[in-house]
Amino acid sequence: MRLLPLAAVLSLALTGAAPAQPGPAPDFSADRFKSHVAFLADDLLEGRDTGSRGHEIAAAYVASQFMGLGLKPGGANGSWYQQVPFRAAVLDGKPRFTLSGPAGQTVWENGTEMVTGAGLDAEKDDLSAPVVFAGYGAEAPQFGADDYKGLDVRGKIVAVFSGLPKGLPSEVAAHLGDTKSEVAARHGAVGLITLLTTEQAKRRPFAAIAARAGSGRPTLDWVRKDGLAGSGGARFTATASDTAATALFAGAPRSFADVRAEADRGAVPRGFGLKTSLRLERQSKWTTVTSPEVIGILPGSDPRLSNEYVILMGHLDHLGMRRNGKPGEDLIYNGALDNAAGVATMLEAARAFAGAAAKPKRSILFIANTAEEKGLLGAGYYAANPTVPVGRIAAAVDLDMPLLLYRFTDVIAFGADHSTVGEAVRRAAGEMSVGLSPDPMPEENIFVRSDHYEFVKEGVPAIMLATGWANGGGEKWKAFLGGAYHHPNDDMSQPIDWESGARFARLNYLIARQLADAPQRPLWYRGDYFGDAFAPGQPRAVRAAAR
Ligand SMILES: [Zn+2]
Repeated sequence: MRLLPLAAVLSLALTGAAPAQPGPAPDFSADRFKSHVAFLADDLLEGRDTGSRGHEIAAAYVASQFMGLGLKPGGANGSWYQQVPFRAAVLDGKPRFTLSGPAGQTVWENGTEMVTGAGLDAEKDDLSAPVVFAGYGAEAPQFGADDYKGLDVRGKIVAVFSGLPKGLPSEVAAHLGDTKSEVAARHGAVGLITLLTTEQAKRRPFAAIAARAGSGRPTLDWVRKDGLAGSGGARFTATASDTAATALFAGAPRSFADVRAEADRGAVPRGFGLKTSLRLERQSKWTTVTSPEVIGILPGSDPRLSNEYVILMGHLDHLGMRRNGKPGEDLIYNGALDNAAGVATMLEAARAFAGAAAKPKRSILFIANTAEEKGLLGAGYYAANPTVPVGRIAAAVDLDMPLLLYRFTDVIAFGADHSTVGEAVRRAAGEMSVGLSPDPMPEENIFVRSDHYEFVKEGVPAIMLATGWANGGGEKWKAFLGGAYHHPNDDMSQPIDWESGARFARLNYLIARQLADAPQRPLWYRGDYFGDAFAPGQPRAVRAAAR
């Protein structure tokens, strides 16, 4: 990645940033870092599942730490907490799909040739609609993706390929892939069926998707004031096997095999109406779960800038306990790195700010998010219902799963290319002689896989920081993602380098310092896809390359 000169940034931007460490440099201790992780990843907390007692205990721990540091409560009604209302849905019996078309009627029980999860918008669904094929279901005309163009999908069910065509910028592709259901709903579609390309079917076969959907784990979303589920997607989403996909295209001008061959070649098949319609009958059972965001504020010192906020956050929840374990098996997902380590990073950065001789100019908002593992839900709720005006949130930095299994010498800032937050990261990293590297694993779509993304969607420049691939990091990352990640082995028995934890906390303190003390708050770059999509009225910075 190229180094952007400071002068590249429009107007004052961050060029006039105050020295990063006014007064004596705060000290960061490996032992203190370890003490947070040791508590939060203890078996007693039973994996900190959203809504569980273990997560409540973890939340009380974070609130107690905030209190001890002298932060101000930043939750609802003067408390440390913002209680998030969640709807948890499980299937009640087996949903049934009935396909009608030129070949007559076919009925599939859920999990055979079509699979869906529980409903979050209604406990009882019975809907029938014609099916329309809509390419990849992507809409970003500036990148040539315009799959809904010329199609009328109002009141219909769209069938789209999984994944996206090659050639899109990886973070844009990640975003388009993540929001297909919302885009379908925006065009008036009632349902979204995913068709598998040959490549996607190899990576994740239909049988594996069906098995996961049948695991009995509830589907969660936060509940809006109007009672609907927060994310606002189509009424149902489902995945089709090759058999079902072929049947959906019966009698159509082109067969499923034909359009899939086109997609497999890397082209984007144009959409068209199919000759079939589909009925879904589904019953779901709902329960209500409440789980808190934990929020502390360190008020800024500058009379004018202190009403702006820099957010430093990490998710406190993890996966809870394994349901169908064998006797003697480790059942607890301790989540030591995912994400007790991120919360420890936030707490130690908070300690440094609280003890600093010169307080930050902007206020710092510290948040321990809930329900990240359920789909970024706690952060999504907070970003949609912030306890400070969203227009005053200058930036958000997310701390999720720092891999502290080696001595990191570089970091990756997911989202840093979109706004001047990246400049602050580069300067802070430079102070510690840590490199800033481009995303080495774009295929992992990490940009949309953690809580900062929910703030991006509300127009807030936001990043997630991860330890980099240099100094052996690449091998450690690959081994972790294929091993202890989302497994009971992500626990205290790993060879965690606590000194790296202390260094990671220092780096995040320095980044937040830069963001809090700069005269100009961070700006999206002119022409940036995410800035244009979510922050249309905000002022812009100019990238170096554009000059
Ligand atoms: Zn996770």
